[in-house]
Amino acid sequence: MIIIMQDKFIDKNMPILISDLQKLIRQPSVSAKNLGLEECARLVVQIMRKAGIKSEILRIGTNVPPIVYGEVKSVRNPNKTILFYNHYDVQPEEPLELWNDKPFSGKRKGNKIYGRGSADDKGELITRIKAVEAFLRTTRDVPCNIKFLVEGEEEVGSMHVEDYLRKYKSKLSCDAVIWEFGYVDEKDRPIISLGMKGLLYVELSIQESIRDAHSSLAVLIENPAWRLVEALKVLREKKGRILIKDWYKEVDNFTNKELQIIASEPFDEQSFKKEYGIKKFVGNKKGFEIKKALVGGPTCNIAGFTSGYKGPGAKTVLPSTALVKIDFRLIPKMNPLKQFTRLKQHLKEKGFGDIQVRMIHGEAASRTSISDKFVQTVKQAANESFGKSILSVSSAGTGPMYSFSKVLKAPCISIGSTYVFSRIHSPNEFARIVLLKKTTKCMCRIIKKFGNQ
Ligand SMILES: [Zn+2]
Repeated sequence: MIIIMQDKFIDKNMPILISDLQKLIRQPSVSAKNLGLEECARLVVQIMRKAGIKSEILRIGTNVPPIVYGEVKSVRNPNKTILFYNHYDVQPEEPLELWNDKPFSGKRKGNKIYGRGSADDKGELITRIKAVEAFLRTTRDVPCNIKFLVEGEEEVGSMHVEDYLRKYKSKLSCDAVIWEFGYVDEKDRPIISLGMKGLLYVELSIQESIRDAHSSLAVLIENPAWRLVEALKVLREKKGRILIKDWYKEVDNFTNKELQIIASEPFDEQSFKKEYGIKKFVGNKKGFEIKKALVGGPTCNIAGFTSGYKGPGAKTVLPSTALVKIDFRLIPKMNPLKQFTRLKQHLKEKGFGDIQVRMIHGEAASRTSISDKFVQTVKQAANESFGKSILSVSSAGTGPMYSFSKVLKAPCISIGSTYVFSRIHSPNEFARIVLLKKTTKCMCRIIKKFGNQ
């Protein structure tokens, strides 16, 4: 491992990193319940200021959680800026009975720190702050300008992050973005992810009669659940391909370079199947097809279906209504609104114009080009600090990356300290101290290399 001056500072100051992270965990900040958000934002400001980062709270309205802005101007390299995007909100702590300690305890046990937010995303945030502090304390300067955008609504869909980006566009302008999280796999390899899928979340519903009826009347009254089942069958074929007209129209194929990277990404089919207790994958996918699907496969997933009687035993009822929730994962060039219009049009053309279609949420996909110089910068930094790393064309999940690349026009890359089995969003969430340390050092290298890039 290449030693840089900041490593020593980080090694020596790990107890402070840990106690600051514990302070953050002990301040509950559950966006879904609007709990503790203002307090947590103020605490982030305090911790940043203590680290030497100029920090303030930004707002776009009284009912919207604030974002925390942080900034350090570089004396010797004032023309390049890196932005760290993170969030101070966390998922709800329930179910309480499954926690070994209180959810917001921040308790340290051996090499782990427990508590809601310890990994997602307070653990990640603290590594970025401490990396900047390491430069300020050892050199009184930073290798490039640093900015922070720490939002409070990530766990509820980042509804206002794009509004913030637009309102404070010049303040937040930058040349590269480090995303809020990154996984480290079971072999301690950080995964450098260059993109995220988009999402279209819809609700399909139908009312056939004005009230539930005795099911003997099924000879006369149409059952809305059957109607929805028939409608669903025109959306997707068995192997997973989406049947909606023009659904894939704008989509590009993978480039050769992307295919190479996808092929080199590890995926353990057997342990995955074991983890979920499944025997085969959708469409009987094997090998390369599985990896390609994870990185760039659109989906049409039934997230929930409600109709009729769901209690114990039997009730012979003919329900009057039925409702289904569907999420579609989108890939680059699929516009959520356009896809929504295509869905409505398709249903109408197939004879299901009577079904109500409502869009709940839409977010476009985003991908940073493999040929962007920033990719090599991050890759080298990761290899130096972890000894190895894995490059990934896109994560299978969704986040507001598109808003960042659209408004700030900067490459976004996700890398971080989140051990893949650290139970984020679940009871007994934890962060591994060794990964917090390695990631802090990795962030230093990214800042330094980016300054020289
Ligand atoms: Zn999360």
